[in-house]
Amino acid sequence: MICITGSLVLPDRIIECGSVLVAGEKIQKLVRGSKPPRGALQLDFRDCYVAPGFIDIHVHGGAGADYMDGDEAAVRQVNRAHLRHGTTTLFPTTTTASPDQIRAMIEACAKVQKHWTPADGARIGGVHLYGPYFAPNKLGCHPRLGRRDPKPEEFRRYFRGNRVRIATCAAELTGAAAFYRLARHKNCLITCGHSDASWPEMEAAFRQGVRHVDHFWCAMSSVPSVRARLGTPMRGSMEQFVLAHPEMSTEVIADGEHLAPELLNYAYRMLGPDRLCLVTDANRALDMPPGRYRFGHRDTGTWFESNGRVGFLPGKGLASSVVGLDFMVRTMARDTGAPLPEIIRMATLTPARLTGIAHQTGSLAEGKQADLVVLTKQLEVKSVMVAGKLVHGTPPAGAVGPARPKSNKPTLIRAR
Ligand SMILES: [Zn+2]
Ligand SMILES: [Zn+2]
Repeated sequence: MICITGSLVLPDRIIECGSVLVAGEKIQKLVRGSKPPRGALQLDFRDCYVAPGFIDIHVHGGAGADYMDGDEAAVRQVNRAHLRHGTTTLFPTTTTASPDQIRAMIEACAKVQKHWTPADGARIGGVHLYGPYFAPNKLGCHPRLGRRDPKPEEFRRYFRGNRVRIATCAAELTGAAAFYRLARHKNCLITCGHSDASWPEMEAAFRQGVRHVDHFWCAMSSVPSVRARLGTPMRGSMEQFVLAHPEMSTEVIADGEHLAPELLNYAYRMLGPDRLCLVTDANRALDMPPGRYRFGHRDTGTWFESNGRVGFLPGKGLASSVVGLDFMVRTMARDTGAPLPEIIRMATLTPARLTGIAHQTGSLAEGKQADLVVLTKQLEVKSVMVAGKLVHGTPPAGAVGPARPKSNKPTLIRAR
């Protein structure tokens, strides 16, 4: 048994000094205090936070690879990179691309998911089918050639085998209703993104199962953009629709480059930690030097530039982020008034719940996978454990063998 001691970050509070007892791959229980049970190996992180591992529902790449490269080596390379940033479960995200490229990406992710070991980095929770079904006027940095409207003969193949767990389609496209219907049948988190949808189009999409929109304020409709498309009277957009419907959730790219502090704070205050996720939307330039890279497939993706802080298309706009979820957590701590348990919840339990994996991971709770990130008090990643194995960082000094037996019986902490 392993006893991990530190300030435990629970979904609703911090236990200043507590221990997570890990047996095999699972959390056996949480206890107050730092005394390890007899025979347990203690990892004493008393000056640090012990939080659940992060969960990223929108991520394209890292360490030079993009999931759309479509082979297992690329998938592992990205997963290992994000693990170093505290992410223990992620949802590899497609871009606009040819049907063959999308199929290759889904296959490669499925193989890595099936044969996963802790050495492979973050676990795959499922694929996020994101591109190709975007609105032509909201493509952002995605390759234009790879965009199209949804056709059942194409997308039916992607949904086979239940590898896709998150499904995005712009609500105004012809064929969106059929796409949403199948995604709902497959029990996916259904989302509308890269879309210029109006309120009435969102209403229809909501009836068909849409409950989430991708990266709030980025590549999505606004009142002026809907007015430009549909004229007057001015109509509500995706923004108003999400804010007005408690069943709707969304996500922010909190890298400090996409959204200014007032928008991050606004999103947190209006939506709260149970309807807002932190995502990286990271591309292959994560942990790479500044330079030119491709967004999407290594041969056909759009060229963009990274300055080490963000990706951008010179003279046009941003091209997704180049930092990990730990960076997003630090930005939220700096830029919003949110308490730490809520910031961590937006990167863990909330995305876990939305994607239906909260019974396995997403919080420090008895019976869940021992997926943990140890953060310094400055919220830098010190160590990462996935499925009970310490896979990143070094054990604290003194953690060399079974602890001396102690007689005090620790008190249990009840957590959700
Ligand atoms: Zn996007
Ligand atoms: Zn994206």
